[in-house]
Amino acid sequence: MKVTVLVGGVGGARFLEGARERFGVTPFPERDDTAAVGAPEHAVTAVVNVGDDAWMHGVRICPDLDTCMYTLGGGIDTERGWGHRNETWHAKEELAKYGADPDWFGLGDRDLATHLIRTQMLASGYSLTDVTAALCNRWRPGVRLLPATDGRHETHVVVADPDSTDGAKKAIHFQEWWVRYRADIETFGFAQVGGAEGGSPGAQGNRAQASRAAITAIEEADVVFLAPSNPVVSIGAILSVGGIRAALRTTKARVVGVSPVIGGAPLRGMADRCLEVLGIETSARAIGEHFGARSGNGLLDGWLVSEEDAGVAIDGLPVAAVPLLMGSPQATAAMIDAGLELVGL
Ligand code: GDP
Ligand code: CA
Repeated sequence: MKVTVLVGGVGGARFLEGARERFGVTPFPERDDTAAVGAPEHAVTAVVNVGDDAWMHGVRICPDLDTCMYTLGGGIDTERGWGHRNETWHAKEELAKYGADPDWFGLGDRDLATHLIRTQMLASGYSLTDVTAALCNRWRPGVRLLPATDGRHETHVVVADPDSTDGAKKAIHFQEWWVRYRADIETFGFAQVGGAEGGSPGAQGNRAQASRAAITAIEEADVVFLAPSNPVVSIGAILSVGGIRAALRTTKARVVGVSPVIGGAPLRGMADRCLEVLGIETSARAIGEHFGARSGNGLLDGWLVSEEDAGVAIDGLPVAAVPLLMGSPQATAAMIDAGLELVGL
């Protein structure tokens, strides 16, 4: 079976561990290509959010790609949820002594190596898709990791300017909103910034286009899962890449969404803050309706909600209530089975 999963960082990576478990893909396979690997009849491809990506200290950071790569490659710091385990912070300390900006963001020493390689390769003209494949050649995540786009598609957040006394608004990068302000600042909306190279940022009709590989992964899949990632800044940011939504609407694959909200609260993180900004209630029903049924104008053929949310009904959209806690790859694999069953696969 060809399986494609739309993912963000931590929640997405956990879901991919379950997919790898379910489809018999070998962790850390001893091979030197990065094509989707596993039991010959199965292949898992992840289309990964790049909305969190940014330039910091002269290097290109790709938080969700790295979280997926390190988690599946066995190198993540599980306590912190991002970056390398066994990390040291000498470079961060030295940068602080220079008064380098931003002072609220730091990379570990080991992590820095990943960023130097990525930045060098991007500067040499490689696409982010190629760079990711090269990095995965070391980490061997066992699933194919594809950035949703090779273009720039950064999530920015419109907030009340903390330095203004007359209520002025300004847009800040999502990383600043999330890491520096912990989303605890008056917020008005999200906007994707970027677009085709050379274009003016955010201009209509000039948004970043999905990579050919990402579109093909959606078009040629048997099933596409929307991981229980942040519905706004992870899944939403992927869906706003040019071509992704259309590919999901027309693919022959069955499309299954998984709720990141259990009994009215996100499992971890601040997804509720993001939903609030869009005026969407933090509930499995509201998020399911937000993605919508493919039989209507939406994207989903099935929606998995947690047992606590049993009874959720959405027009035209088959819903199943199952345990949605990703406590282990096996538990997540069972969740994936329930999703396949829901759409008759
Ligand atoms: P980020 O990019 O690191 O913020 O991670 P994602 O966007 O991929 O995932 C964050 C979302 O994962 C949060 O909204 C959580 O509610 C959700 N999440 C985390 N763990 C679980 C879990 O065990 N089950 C479910 N259903 N959702 C989870
Ligand atoms: Ca993220």
